[in-house]
Amino acid sequence: MDLNLKDKVFIVSGGSKGIGEGISRVLAKEGARLVIATRSQGSVTEELADELRADGTAVEIAYGDLQDIQKCKAAIDLALEVYGSIDGVVNNAGVNDGAGLTAGPDAFRKSIEVNLFHYYNLVHFALPSLKKSRGAIVNVSSKVAITGQGGTSGYAASKGAQLALTREWAAELLPYSIRVNAVLPAEVMTPLYRKWLDTTFEDPGSKERQISAKIPLEQRMTTAEEIANMVAFLLSDSSSHTTGQFMSIDGGYTHLDRSLT
Ligand code: NAP
Repeated sequence: MDLNLKDKVFIVSGGSKGIGEGISRVLAKEGARLVIATRSQGSVTEELADELRADGTAVEIAYGDLQDIQKCKAAIDLALEVYGSIDGVVNNAGVNDGAGLTAGPDAFRKSIEVNLFHYYNLVHFALPSLKKSRGAIVNVSSKVAITGQGGTSGYAASKGAQLALTREWAAELLPYSIRVNAVLPAEVMTPLYRKWLDTTFEDPGSKERQISAKIPLEQRMTTAEEIANMVAFLLSDSSSHTTGQFMSIDGGYTHLDRSLT
């Protein structure tokens, strides 16, 4: 299927690692032009950008912590300066920071700052361009928004709010034909996931095997590329009548009958 994404311009937050890296790679393969907005300075981001550029993709990097509103604006400004338009925003940057009920009000607020506000801010600043291009928005949420996890109130609240915003923006942006959808990963091995396993469990290897065994389809984790393929589809004209939807890309982990595993 030709997704018709050639030369389209997308902002991908957290686009140089994990799921975001997968999204950048898939969009690059489709011929899109990218702005990767990330705080991950140095080789991880530079090497990815160099690799994609060597394959002919136009890639700009907007460095900075997106908790800073001005960094959100700078990422959008960069896209407009270099490419002149924006066809889509992929809100993906986030951290499961374990700010649970005992962590206290400051930790809860910080967690929401690191996980939620930039989803709104990037879309706010991109909106005039998205209206012109009839662009699309994809919010990367999490299964945690609907299943809970325990010990991570700030992250869960942010991920739930991202789903609420997906429906809210889908409604608000109907007159402009701007489509807004969410993708809900469950278990994807990324630097964030590796850190969570390694710092939370005494035997991370056995915990990883235990989790994989509970994933109904093929007893394996979802790859970043499998998440990215859905994101690319949702950004493309091929999903031209799909809006306000929550897509669980998780091998049936969230919704299928527990007795299957
Ligand atoms: P990851 O491996 O840590 O990659 C996330 C990237 O986003 C990193 O480059 C990170 O930078 C960057 N980032 C985070 N907060 C940022 C901020 N405030 N400003 C700028 N950059 C920021 O994470 P991932 O596992 O790919 O997760 C990506 C998204 O998927 C997140 O929204 C997460 O909630 C969601 N998700 C993941 C899973 C999973 O199984 N992995 C499951 C459900 C949902 P640093 O390296 O500096 O932190």
